Parts: sequence; structure tokens; C-alpha cells
Amino acid sequence: MALMITDECINCDVCEPECPNDAISMGPEIYLIDPNKCTECVGHFDEPQCVQVCPVECIPRNPDHLESAEQLQQKYHALMAAKNG
Ligand code: SF4
Ligand code: SF4
Repeated sequence: MALMITDECINCDVCEPECPNDAISMGPEIYLIDPNKCTECVGHFDEPQCVQVCPVECIPRNPDHLESAEQLQQKYHALMAAKNG
């Protein structure tokens, strides 16, 4: 499952540089997570790094992007393959 940032985000900027998949970017008002790039940090870390650093706990799972651990692993491999050309 990809994660999502809710409107409780205070734009503190700390999560963006922590994402190993460059899935987090500033949106029109608050930060956004690209569900096509978020693997819940599978393949990189044991825990979602953005959730670890967010001071207001506004990063839940995205109910519109339900994925199994296996699917997240496959997404990780696809992202790495794209990154490495
Ligand atoms: S869970 Fe990991 S991959 Fe997903 S947005 Fe957060 S830091 Fe990036
Ligand atoms: S760490 Fe949390 S509050 Fe800070 S920018 Fe990211 S989502 Fe928003």
C-alpha cells in the first residue's frame, strides 16, 4: 500500500529528503506522495521513513492504493530498474 499525506501536514519539509524513492514532493498546498513511487520503503528500510520523521503523524496508508507486501517488492524492483536505466 502506498502512503498518503493528509491536510494536517504543516509543511515542515523533513520528510521529503528522507524518501528513498523520491516519492514526496511539495504540492499546491501541502506535501504529496506519488503512489506510483511509494513502496512503504520496502526494499530500502524496515519502516516507512517519512512516518518516522513526521512530527504531526499525518501519513497514513492510502486506502485507494491497496497493495500486498509482494506487490510493494515488485514496485521496488521496477523503480530500481527504471532508475538504473
Ligand atoms: S513510505 Fe518510504 S517510499 Fe513511501 S513516501 Fe514514505 S519515505 Fe517514501
Ligand atoms: S513530515 Fe509530516 S508535516 Fe512535515 S512535511 Fe512531511 S508530511 Fe508534512
